[in-house]
Amino acid sequence: MDEIRIRCPKCSWEPDGKPYWQCTCGHVWNTFATGARCPACHKVWEYTACIVTAGGCHARPPHLDWYEGLDGIVEKLKEEILATREVEV
Ligand SMILES: [Zn+2]
Ligand SMILES: [Zn+2]
Repeated sequence: MDEIRIRCPKCSWEPDGKPYWQCTCGHVWNTFATGARCPACHKVWEYTACIVTAGGCHARPPHLDWYEGLDGIVEKLKEEILATREVEV
């Protein structure tokens, strides 16, 4: 499978695995370790802020936009599924 890189779609800042994101419940964690879901209250965050203090920008793009190479993987999976269906039919 292709490698997925995680970085800000605006400024290309790459998260370094540290907990920068704070939930409305007060919990602070690394949102990329849980797919944007707060481990304390289980709220899923649709948008993920870039971290200015860690070298990022002020953008707040959708969480999925942070995953580079995801589109390619989805396309590949689609092709595989279609190929399987053709065999079955
Ligand atoms: Zn929370
Ligand atoms: Zn950024």
